[in-house]
Amino acid sequence: MAEQLINEQPELGPGLRMIRRRRWFLWALIIAYVPAIWLSLELTGSDMVTGGVFAVWLIFVCIAIVLGALAKCPRCGNYFHVHGLTLLYLRKCLHCQLHVSADKHK
Ligand SMILES: [Zn+2]
Repeated sequence: MAEQLINEQPELGPGLRMIRRRRWFLWALIIAYVPAIWLSLELTGSDMVTGGVFAVWLIFVCIAIVLGALAKCPRCGNYFHVHGLTLLYLRKCLHCQLHVSADKHK
């Protein structure tokens, strides 16, 4: 069992790092929403410009959601966050239950 885990680590690492990067990209965008809208209103005082900021933010969030949804599990090869029509950003693969940081825990 231990040998099997050691042998799996090099294969899982790059795939899990990519999934973590995509998850952080989405979280960073969600966290940046309120400061971006507030900053836009403070600097410009314009609803039109703030609407533009919101539109750009929304486009980036859609891209981040699609990138996260298309991330494939390095162990089972299925979509990490998608099972059927269900999109869930859980920390485990929806198919094989591989944890998103399984390569860090030995
Ligand atoms: Zn999996």
